[in-house]
Amino acid sequence: MSSGGVHGVGSRVDAGQRTDGVVDFLGTAITWIGGDPDAEACAACGHPWRPGVAEARATIATAPETYPALLATGDPYRVPDGLTWHGTAYTVHVADLCRAWAERIVGHVGEPERQLAGFDPDELADARNYLGMTATAAAWSLRHGVELLLATADDEAAARTFHHDEWGEASFGDGLRWLAHEVAHHEQDLARCLA
Ligand SMILES: [Zn+2]
Repeated sequence: MSSGGVHGVGSRVDAGQRTDGVVDFLGTAITWIGGDPDAEACAACGHPWRPGVAEARATIATAPETYPALLATGDPYRVPDGLTWHGTAYTVHVADLCRAWAERIVGHVGEPERQLAGFDPDELADARNYLGMTATAAAWSLRHGVELLLATADDEAAARTFHHDEWGEASFGDGLRWLAHEVAHHEQDLARCLA
């Protein structure tokens, strides 16, 4: 695992395959962060890998309340032993992922023939200087990122399927499932940072 712990959709990993030979986007993503795609839940944080779409949306919707509340409990710029990001950086990471997935949905509705654009979350973190950002801006960005995502990711959008060159077939519902894990997992990272 690299600094962010868990990530969005990258493009630097070999595609994983299920036992039936189908390249599975969510399974590949889980494998990429060192998880077991056949398990019910993440061994590290306990969050289910494949919740229902409504459940995933509900988890994501908690972030604009829980993350700033956690950041307010201590030093939002403290990087604890074993991590390379502070709480503010994790908050910006989740905000950027939510906005990126909202963009992907909008883009797919308009131009479904285009591939999903992957990016490296660690490179994004360096380019945007997450470690230099303010907790105030991070909380603001997270609120707006989640608002954009939830306004975009309705049931119709969640049912849309896309193909990623390396990561295989998926629906945007899988994207929501992935993001829900990001929210839950990094909430625990945040708690470690603020402890
Ligand atoms: Zn986890």
